[in-house]
Amino acid sequence: MVEDKDRPGFFKDYHRAVRKAISNDQFNEFSKLKTNDDRIRFCFSLPAIHDIDIKPYFRGKSEKEALEKKEAGNKCFGRKNNLEALRLYSQAVVKAPVPSGKYWKLIKESADPKKMTMYAICLANRSAALYHLREYHYCVKDIDEALEHHYPKELKYKLYKRKARLLSHMKQHVEARDAYRQALKWLDWAKMEREKRIEHQTDIQKWLKMYETGKVVKNWDIPECYIEHPPVIPELTGGRNERFLSASKKIDIHYDNNMGRYAVASEDIEPGDVLVTEQPFASVLNREEFGSHCQKCFKTTKAPIPCKKCSSVLFCSVECRQSSYFHTIECPILDLLVGSGMSINCFLALRLVTQKPVSYFLDMKEKLNEEDLKEITNNKEVYDPSDFMRLYNLVCHSQFRTAEDLFHRCVMIVFLIKALKKTKYFDGKGSSSGECAVRSLLSLVLLSHCFGFSSLKEWFDTRLEYNFRRYPGHQKK
Ligand SMILES: [Zn+2]
Ligand SMILES: [Zn+2]
Repeated sequence: MVEDKDRPGFFKDYHRAVRKAISNDQFNEFSKLKTNDDRIRFCFSLPAIHDIDIKPYFRGKSEKEALEKKEAGNKCFGRKNNLEALRLYSQAVVKAPVPSGKYWKLIKESADPKKMTMYAICLANRSAALYHLREYHYCVKDIDEALEHHYPKELKYKLYKRKARLLSHMKQHVEARDAYRQALKWLDWAKMEREKRIEHQTDIQKWLKMYETGKVVKNWDIPECYIEHPPVIPELTGGRNERFLSASKKIDIHYDNNMGRYAVASEDIEPGDVLVTEQPFASVLNREEFGSHCQKCFKTTKAPIPCKKCSSVLFCSVECRQSSYFHTIECPILDLLVGSGMSINCFLALRLVTQKPVSYFLDMKEKLNEEDLKEITNNKEVYDPSDFMRLYNLVCHSQFRTAEDLFHRCVMIVFLIKALKKTKYFDGKGSSSGECAVRSLLSLVLLSHCFGFSSLKEWFDTRLEYNFRRYPGHQKK
């Protein structure tokens, strides 16, 4: 496994500078510390660790690049090269400024309609390529997103007409009829010759007449070829284990002091049996896949939806973007973190924090301070896979790590907390004692998990997501 110190990026220089700045006596003092909390406090007290200027750093939007990609996409679309047009329009969609939040206010004041409508126009153009590629599911999503983001009103009739046509292909006749009604309404705003307008009106009315005078309009089942199915989680073979809800009845989990926690077969296991399935506590996408896969669900993105602020990440849908709280925190520092060269283990540790608001950890503070974390393997309690304490209970292996290794990890944690402080994560927790408590708690969580992740990642190194509740190790004692 590649350690942080062997990776490219500025973190290794930062760590080296902090390490060099402390005396042998100070380092000896560090090596004698017994708890994670004490180690982190020690590192925070070092003057050299604050000799780093951490600033938000992320790849933003570029109207110029969006325009270039859109025009290149238009050329391909004109030549009926829809696949290449889709690729170029997607790049334009990702780069186009999204009129929302502060940015929206800014451009509203400067009243530049081109900037305001760029994102929506790129989406609308992409929807045309998707329509010809018969990717109706994505086409309708792009049209809705464009209509929600200031698509020019004089062109709206066109989008509604496209939407009506594809909904009728999808046998969604109620929505198709409504879209034709909208198309007719927005035709009044269109800038065109009278004859052309009448032509459009006649066409739309022909369809509306069919819907309104024909047999009862209803939605039929969407044809299978137009449905995007979510990934299928395989069924557990032999039924669900009564105590370990994520495991099959075919295995049981035991614990003893020599072996730690381990699985035993309760009955014969055949090749291909599914023994454990579970939602991961936290998961991160490999950096190499940032340009092709959804940050939230890891699906490949046929028609990517961008973050509203940066152009570093993609989502497969507006729904995935909306449910990615973690990215609203990580967004302003993402490229800083990538540039640091930190490992995927550290990203995973950070994600555990950024996927929940700080209030979640404040509420857990009492629980985390309990000295005797419950041993659940040998008692009869049901193992709740969504309980954060199960994760916290994973073994840290800190007793097997050298002082140098511990120090390196602690510096990483200080760096992560400093980076987090440049985001809105701690907003609203302004009182210094409150913030200190939260920082100390997060340090503890991050440090424990950095350890836990390293040992687990060695088990599941080929996966894009790492599940921490597969019972592979001992429990912390
Ligand atoms: Zn997704
Ligand atoms: Zn972002």
